[in-house]
Amino acid sequence: MKMQWMDAHCHLSDNAFDAQRESLYEDLLAHDICGLVLAGTDPDDWVKQDRLAPPLPLRIARVFGIHPWSVDAMSDQELQNAMNTLGQSLGSCQGLGEMGLDYFRAKSAEERAKHKLWFDRQLDLARGKNLPLVLHVVKAHHESLPQLRRHQKTYRGLVHSFWAHADVAKSYIDLGFLLSVPPRIMKEDPHQILSKIDPEYIVFETDTPFLNAEAVCMKPTLIHDFLEFISQQRGEPLATTVNRQSCLLTQLFPVLKG
Ligand SMILES: [Zn+2]
Repeated sequence: MKMQWMDAHCHLSDNAFDAQRESLYEDLLAHDICGLVLAGTDPDDWVKQDRLAPPLPLRIARVFGIHPWSVDAMSDQELQNAMNTLGQSLGSCQGLGEMGLDYFRAKSAEERAKHKLWFDRQLDLARGKNLPLVLHVVKAHHESLPQLRRHQKTYRGLVHSFWAHADVAKSYIDLGFLLSVPPRIMKEDPHQILSKIDPEYIVFETDTPFLNAEAVCMKPTLIHDFLEFISQQRGEPLATTVNRQSCLLTQLFPVLKG
């Protein structure tokens, strides 16, 4: 049986893929990639995600939300309109996000308060909906964790681009989240994420597209190198790493099931 490769987080709807999406689909299928978890940024992006129609057996989990960087870029009125649209669009997505706090971007108290407010609004919307969440939290775990606990005791979802110490990881795992680890772990693991956290709580994401050091637009096919690296690090067969990833992601997003 072929291995079922999946990427825990990418932006298939991104403009960078517009001109090459059909050839990208061929490339993904040629690499046996059969599942992608997407991530929302703003209302225009949700429309684009909605229109994506990848050829089977490639399946996508659509995730709609207001990214903290979009919160920066939008007025309060635009954000309120976006929230209304999001509330009406829940039937078209399988998850909510990216949402959260990015204190590397938001430096002033005012900017941070705005991130918190619209994270709160999205958590309010998520309550009782049983949709997995995709969190974007940078240098703000000390605030996102209490904020999450105020809304609900348990969640389902992913902490995208997780990059923090094991005690922070444990706090998210206790809330019900999986940690989605970015490709930079192939170069460095200062927090010893791989050795300190149970593999059953970790998935891996490309967060593509992005430009690498050679200014090449990276694609979700990067998940091959990534999971090969992880299987070597863990000293386990590649199929074990690939299957664990697809099991964890299909549990969270049943739409990815073949
Ligand atoms: Zn992302």
